[in-house]
Amino acid sequence: MVDFGFGLVPSSRINLDLFDKDKYEELAAVEPDVRICMACGSCTAVCTAGKFSTTSLREAIEDIKNAQPTKALELLKACQLCGKCSMVCPRGINTRHLILSIINTYSIK
Ligand code: SF4
Ligand code: SF4
Repeated sequence: MVDFGFGLVPSSRINLDLFDKDKYEELAAVEPDVRICMACGSCTAVCTAGKFSTTSLREAIEDIKNAQPTKALELLKACQLCGKCSMVCPRGINTRHLILSIINTYSIK
């Protein structure tokens, strides 16, 4: 392959037409706090599983809002439900309940 000194990467464009509002409302009905996350990243910074995996609650919530629930589930699959993130969340979100609610809502049943 010829090296032109640059490479092409897949588009990271988000298609919001794919956003499933009904599913999001379903999630918000069982855990309304999903609406108040301010994406500060404190949960990700202290995440136990984040030391050895790509676990990130902040990113997972953002992915759901950006119509990428499969990516969100992938980011939460190594979560150990230790609850450390709930201790640092400035919004006081019950993160473990939120994580379980995301998995329950978006997993294929
Ligand atoms: S509950 Fe899950 S997301 Fe939160 S700190 Fe523990 S492993 Fe990380
Ligand atoms: S710590 Fe709380 S407010 Fe901050 S990104 Fe995590 S869930 Fe959202």
